[in-house]
Amino acid sequence: TIHQKAINRVKETIRIFNKHSLHFAQEEMKRCEQGEVNDEQIDNGTRNNGSPLADNKRSNSRTDFKAITEMKNKKEVLYPEKMIGHLPGIVVGHQFTSRTEMVAIGFHGHWMNGIDYISKFSGKLKQRCGYTCPLAVAIVMSGQYEDDVDCLNEVVYTGQGGNDLHGSKHQIKDQVMHRGNLALKNNMEQCVPVRVIRGYKLGASRSRDRKVYMYCGLYKVVNHWAEKGISGHNVFKYRLRRLLGQPKVDIDQVHYERERKPGVSPRLPGLVCEDISYGEEDIHIPVTNVIDYPPIAPAGFKYTKFVQVSKNITVPPSASGCSCKGQCTNQKSCSCAQLNGSDFPYVSRDGGRLIEPKDVVFECGPQCSCRPNCTNRVSQRQLKYRLEVYRVENKGWAVRSWDFIPSGAPVCEYAGILRRNDELDNVSENDYIFDIDCWHTMNGIGGREKRQGDGSAPTSDLAEKEDDKMTESESEFCIDAGSCGNVARFINHSCEPNLFVQCVLSSHHDIRFARVVLVAADNIPPMQELTYDYGYALDSVIGPDGKIKQAPCFCGTSECRGRLY
Ligand code: SAM
Repeated sequence: TIHQKAINRVKETIRIFNKHSLHFAQEEMKRCEQGEVNDEQIDNGTRNNGSPLADNKRSNSRTDFKAITEMKNKKEVLYPEKMIGHLPGIVVGHQFTSRTEMVAIGFHGHWMNGIDYISKFSGKLKQRCGYTCPLAVAIVMSGQYEDDVDCLNEVVYTGQGGNDLHGSKHQIKDQVMHRGNLALKNNMEQCVPVRVIRGYKLGASRSRDRKVYMYCGLYKVVNHWAEKGISGHNVFKYRLRRLLGQPKVDIDQVHYERERKPGVSPRLPGLVCEDISYGEEDIHIPVTNVIDYPPIAPAGFKYTKFVQVSKNITVPPSASGCSCKGQCTNQKSCSCAQLNGSDFPYVSRDGGRLIEPKDVVFECGPQCSCRPNCTNRVSQRQLKYRLEVYRVENKGWAVRSWDFIPSGAPVCEYAGILRRNDELDNVSENDYIFDIDCWHTMNGIGGREKRQGDGSAPTSDLAEKEDDKMTESESEFCIDAGSCGNVARFINHSCEPNLFVQCVLSSHHDIRFARVVLVAADNIPPMQELTYDYGYALDSVIGPDGKIKQAPCFCGTSECRGRLY
């Protein structure tokens, strides 16, 4: 439908924005790399001894601003003209993960000002609509103004200007009736509604500095006045009332608090297991079940953090490694960067984020002389996000994160027993087999063609080299997480997933045995189910009786093709 197309365009625009931001972060790293500084120092803006880096070595961390400029130049902003009312593809309740994300869409045109307004209509539009400008199109309520009052359906919004943006955020001088303030007054006089967006702090500890911004719908300005604010300066006040007939907003959606203090264990609703990894992972992975009565817990498998190799498989010997010291930062001298098309696949931001999906990522491995915390080993680290296994209707178990996960962040590897596919005949049928088919991923065949990226030829000549090891139609090896696996075995399929499958090589360079890493395709807010595209072609699964097997898909997305396979 038209509506669905608009939603997809919004999603795609945010992906473009994230991709630009990560590319600029990578450029920054390269620029800073020209001195003897490493990734972490670049992130902190200091050298080891704490002295500040020279300007050309210092990272401009607001790569999101650069991304916006790039999008404006390339005409990639979805709604470049300011528009009044709802915008296609953004329904009431939509959550943005940053203010710059809203700028990339054109939903709210400024990353800092609370009021976004049209300063003047040009030419014909002016004659046609006859409104007096400025006119407000959107406001953000993010708790920045001490005088705001927010009762959901009715809010009292403080006008803009006069507050100490860099310090206390308190009012330090009188506000003036111009720009956004005049715009809101004009909205009232001309009965023009304004979009209201609320910023909420994420509760979870690791997301403490993060806010989400929820679109709460259209409001009309019903009243305005001037008064002395809490700090004694003149401020303008605007009473806004929500227009009737709009969907209810559920602010509980953003109150994702799942935090438990160490040592204290208030029971999570439906808690059936404190830690499904039984201490294997550094972070507990609780299991909850509020669906079944009596509640059951997952059973019949052993937790393993690592891929175990079946007896009859000989894994390739370790490949030679790079000779970098400390962090790998020089893409010219690092042999691992050379394998990745003379670039590093990750930026160090947020603990390491993949810039974009690649045919295969070459990480540093056991023979490399860089440090274990080198960013080019990020998918080999411990679990970073607090995951929960929980019961859902129709699909059994599922996985969600209590923390915000930024796009490009590796979430977990698919662990289990590495087996030959022909060995599976002797293994009882199970739902937890992951075919290692990087060759397919590279060539965009099957379900994984839906991954991001242009599906162009591999950046390295690996595919050619490996051509003879793997045919187009078959993979030789798989990871069987039926009897032994990690948290990834509980992640369900979706036709519109928020994770993608990334093949990674670290200890050797044989793609038949590539590691399978699940990476965030989007910024994922806490408590959203984590999913990836299982990549089954329809009618590709044959049952023991030789007949085609079918399974319904319950991903519930508008893009759902109805069947898992
Ligand atoms: N839900 C599984 C569980 O309870 O353990 C975890 C995922 S397991 C790797 C794969 C199985 O989950 C599938 O064979 C199917 O039974 C179920 N599943 C996953 N995604 C699904 C979907 N979108 N619709 C229906 N069933 C799904």
